Amino acid sequence: MKALDELTFDNRFARLGDAFSTHVLPEPLDEPRLVVASNAAMALLDLDPAVAETPVFAELFSGHKLWAEAEPRAMVYSGHQFGGYTPQLGDGRGLLLGEVYNEAGEHWDLHLKGAGMTPYSRMGDGRAVLRSSIREFLASEALHALGIPSSRALCVIGSSTPVWREKQERGAMVLRLAHSHIRFGHFEYFYYTKKPEQQAELAEHVLNLHYPECREQPEPYLAMFREIVERNAEMIAKWQAYGFCHGVMNTDNMSILGITFDFGPFAFLDDFDAHFICNHSDHEGRYSFSNQVPIGQWNLSALAQALKPFISVDALKEALGLYLPLYQAHYLDLMRRRLGLTTAEDDDQKLVEQLLKLMQNSGVDYTLFFRRLGDEPAAQAVARLRDDFVDLARFDAWAERYKARVARDGDYSEVQRRERMHAVNPLYILRNYLAQNAIAAAESGDYSEVRRLHEVLSKPFEEQAGMEQYAQRPPDWGKHLEISCSS
Ligand code: AMP
Ligand code: MG
Repeated sequence: MKALDELTFDNRFARLGDAFSTHVLPEPLDEPRLVVASNAAMALLDLDPAVAETPVFAELFSGHKLWAEAEPRAMVYSGHQFGGYTPQLGDGRGLLLGEVYNEAGEHWDLHLKGAGMTPYSRMGDGRAVLRSSIREFLASEALHALGIPSSRALCVIGSSTPVWREKQERGAMVLRLAHSHIRFGHFEYFYYTKKPEQQAELAEHVLNLHYPECREQPEPYLAMFREIVERNAEMIAKWQAYGFCHGVMNTDNMSILGITFDFGPFAFLDDFDAHFICNHSDHEGRYSFSNQVPIGQWNLSALAQALKPFISVDALKEALGLYLPLYQAHYLDLMRRRLGLTTAEDDDQKLVEQLLKLMQNSGVDYTLFFRRLGDEPAAQAVARLRDDFVDLARFDAWAERYKARVARDGDYSEVQRRERMHAVNPLYILRNYLAQNAIAAAESGDYSEVRRLHEVLSKPFEEQAGMEQYAQRPPDWGKHLEISCSS
């Protein structure tokens, strides 16, 4: 365990120099206070969880203090936003404070979001409000606990600094952790600004630091791109299987590591709805729930375009062709497991699709359906779940097919079935209304609800005593909350 002043820095990205980022000091928030910290994320830095409660912790993560070895930098990048190219973006309100390496030899970027203006702030104020910082914190840690690759969050620090959005709010900062903060948009920036030397430097950096095994391949850059395609296919399969809607899949929000990144108006589905749009500024539904799959490929094509100087067009096309089949394989594998199946049959895809259609038509709670399906043997479970469906004839037909499929799958005990299914079907997810309750309390100075919710979501598959209220469908007011995009 380390004390806060014992962190060891090795700022590899900063060393790439001024073409890649700009030195900027964080602008402190007034009266900083700890809102919530993640013990699991603290452990990634070998930090003793007790240090989160010390005043110096809140000072470090609100811009008042800095380690001598930190080198705060705002990164430059660009990206395709809602399909159109924006030539220059960059960290408009976040700073890469430095890279810390832990005792296991892993490097973690410390990225402070809401740290004030940078050369890339454009029209923005460089700030983040408490509400969006809490949402990013809860989502990062909840996705990780579900087994969905994501950036992590160490803490949220609140303050008394006023920040104007639709109304006056309070500024906050969230400390994000990731092995890298390099986005698809970094490659696009150097490609479209025609800076081949820097682009090659960036590619070398990513290859050496994040995909070293690809060095062994005959075409290292191609191997790296393939790996990025594979990781994205797997990540998006997990989003779809667990009902996660990202909301702003612009290429500047896509990580080169294939982790979920940059949380805005995201949502987990309550009722299953393939057409769900969580971002209310997304009028055309470009980033609707079901569109995330083709958009994943679209984004990879945008990255492929920027990698043309290193990889032949034919090879890029071939690698892109891996995306859909890989996505489908991962998705189906996870959905089979969610249904309690251990073997594969050709018609399983159909079984899943028919179920989703029935859920869509009846407004069935996506998370609770699967959890309850595993509570009991198949016959009893479907008999109990039947009440949630409107088209009973179709549901009964599906239930018969499902029971027959389960019977063919194998002979296992009720306990085995439950354990196996509960291990992949969460009881607790970050429902928008739960986040909203925690935010409302935090905005009035009570952080206990954010902390409790974070705790519950850190063990989503484990039934926790006294936490029934976190495993309910939303009340009417919490069903279709409009989450503001201004964060
Ligand atoms: P996002 O939609 O949050 O991914 O942000 C898109 C771009 O806008 C990024 O370059 C952000 O850094 C920038 N940005 C978002 N909010 C602010 C803000 N309040 N101040 C400055 N820049 C911002
Ligand atoms: Mg972003």
